[in-house]
Amino acid sequence: MTSERAKTPPLSLVDIHPDASTEPFWVAAAEHRLVCQRCAACGTRRMPPGPVCAVCRSLDSEWDELSGLGTLYTFTIGRHALMPEMAGSLPHVIGVVELDDAPGIRLVANVVDVEVDEVAIGMALEVTWEDVPGTEVSVYRFRPPA
Ligand code: ZN
Repeated sequence: MTSERAKTPPLSLVDIHPDASTEPFWVAAAEHRLVCQRCAACGTRRMPPGPVCAVCRSLDSEWDELSGLGTLYTFTIGRHALMPEMAGSLPHVIGVVELDDAPGIRLVANVVDVEVDEVAIGMALEVTWEDVPGTEVSVYRFRPPA
């Protein structure tokens, strides 16, 4: 079978609506910085961001900038268009990426700049950003390190 380059869903489908808890993440993303919320009282990281620490119930939090390096925890390959807008975006790789400097924190993201048959659990990845034209939004993807 001929390998195929991983594609991404069209940016027209990106529809981000930050709230008070998630806004710092998306503001940093627009600057191409990957950040993670951390409880200011006990240090537990939170992803997705939220108003309350699930461990100690503190309402105080801080944000750490991460390296953007990660490891592919698991993935699936999308080969069927679930909506007509996806027809030109096949195949695409939907990965769960564990962040190297935030153990236990995992992001769901498209894996890009790779042939789909080269994608493997445990592969090293780095964050990359795709700006949504006409907006202040940038979405994260992960790719093999350059
Ligand atoms: Zn806490």
